[in-house]
Formats: sequence, C-alpha cells, structure tokens
Amino acid sequence: MSFTTQVKEETSGRWDYRECCYKAELTGLIDTIGNVNISSQGLSLHISTQNPHVARRIYRLISEKIGIEAKIYTRTETRLLKKQSFQVAVLGQENTVKLLKLIGRESWPLETYIIPESVLEWSCCRNAYLRGVFLASGSVSDPKKSYHLEMITHWPEHAVQILALLDRHEIKAQIIERKNNQVIYLKDSNAIADFLVLIGAVNAMLEYENTRALKETINMANRMRNCDLANTERQSIASDQQIDYIEFLHSRGEYSKLTSALKEAADLRLLNPEDSLRELAEQLQISKSALNHRFRSLKQKAQEKGWEPQQR
Ligand SMILES: [Zn+2]
Repeated sequence: MSFTTQVKEETSGRWDYRECCYKAELTGLIDTIGNVNISSQGLSLHISTQNPHVARRIYRLISEKIGIEAKIYTRTETRLLKKQSFQVAVLGQENTVKLLKLIGRESWPLETYIIPESVLEWSCCRNAYLRGVFLASGSVSDPKKSYHLEMITHWPEHAVQILALLDRHEIKAQIIERKNNQVIYLKDSNAIADFLVLIGAVNAMLEYENTRALKETINMANRMRNCDLANTERQSIASDQQIDYIEFLHSRGEYSKLTSALKEAADLRLLNPEDSLRELAEQLQISKSALNHRFRSLKQKAQEKGWEPQQR
C-alpha cells in the first residue's frame, strides 16, 4: 500500500470530527474534483476518485451528514490498464442546487475561486477543508524515499488561498504549474508532518516521524563515521610526515644537535607512529600546542637542511 493510500484510508475512516467540519471537508472535496453536468433532466453533480475509501467517505458525507440522496458507481477505465475509479453522483436539479447552496455555491461553474466564508470562520473547519482538498487530489511520498507532499487544483487563485491557509499554521508551501493545473507542494519534512496532523492523519504522522528519526539517526551515524575516518586519515598523514623529517635529521647527523625537548618529541613519535598528537602530548604531560610547536621546530630544522615534504 502506498503511503498516500495509507494516509487517505486513515483520514477517510475517521468520523470523530465536529459536526461543523463535515460541510467544510465536503466543500474542499467538491471544489477540487466536483463536476456539475447539465442535461435534459437538469443539473447533476459528479465527483470521481480512484480511491475507494475516499469515494465511500464522499458518499457518506453527502447522504448521512448533509442528508441529500447520493449514488455511488464503480467504473473500470479500459484505456488505462483497467484502473478502477469510483463516482459519487447527486442527481436531479433540486438536490444538486440544494447541495451547491449548502457549500456556498450559488452558481456553477465558478467564475473565480473563493473559499466560502463559512469555511474560514473556525480553525477546525479550515483544517477540514484542507483535508477535503488532500483527499480529493493530494499525494504524499513514502518518507523512506523522499519528502514530498502535493495537492492539485485547477484554479490559480484556489492554490493561492490554500497556501494562505497553510501559512496560518506556518506550513510553508510552494506552487508550480503542471499540465494546466496548479500544484501546491511541500518539501520540508517538518511541514509535511505538521500537515498530516492538521488533516487528522495522526497514525500516518507517527509512522512518518519514526521513519524520519530512523533516517536521521543513520545519517548522523554515517556522518560521524566519515568524520572519524577523515580524522584518522589526516592524523596518519601528519605522523608519516613527522617521521619523515625526523629520520631525515638523523640521516644528516643533526639529531645529536637538538635540544632535549626536541629529542624527546622526536623519539616519542618514532616509537608511536600510530598515536595522535593528543596521545603523545599526554605521555609527555605537556599541552597539544606545546608539542605541536616542537614538531614545527623539528620540521623547520629539517627544511633548513634541505628536507622537502613529499606530495601524496
Ligand atoms: Zn468545524
């Protein structure tokens, strides 16, 4: 099951919202994927979806929560790999007009898109509206793969208003145009988790957070291991070079001329090629920078006698 299906199944199965919110949710659904047809029998409203849970929810919202008779049909699209789709229909002029009025639509098709006032009044209803839009046209990618959530609408001004609703919760989203449609998308994993809570997908959000935490732990462990590897590598380059100029000083008979402090550092390095600067400093009971200073002196003396660092 895709993560989108999981989110939609969870939200479609929840009926523990406030009564005021169901109309707002239905408004979001109809505004996004509803179609009004005109025939000799008058107006009728059709809402199509490929998700059976969403279809069932739309049917129950209209027939049980709003109290208007609706029908549900199954259609098999022969063109597209026999994909099943579901259609919820409100038939007859009277029922259709009644429903459209209830969701704040006096005329159809809409000339310009404005989210109805009744939806915007309460925050619970605003969230329910977003849930409706997501159930209608939303998708969210599996957090194991990537962080992406999107909703599609036809109207540019609808997309802008959805963006404003998200902004009230400090959920940052963007809009791009795709095939004549407006795509509102979220890329930030925090924003996606917040949005899932907003629309009531609490279990999906928990799974999302777990996957995200696990991914971040693995990333962190990898980063730390890479840092360790880089440090070890850097350390061994430094040690190789120190050994190189100390041996050079020996070969040129310069060793015997060194101060006892420099001899001490040089001897210790030759005896402990694998140790870090910190470990050597601890053995001598001096600071790391004091020891570093001694190695710099040794290097300088070697360079004065013609030693050159090897390129590696
Ligand atoms: Zn409400």
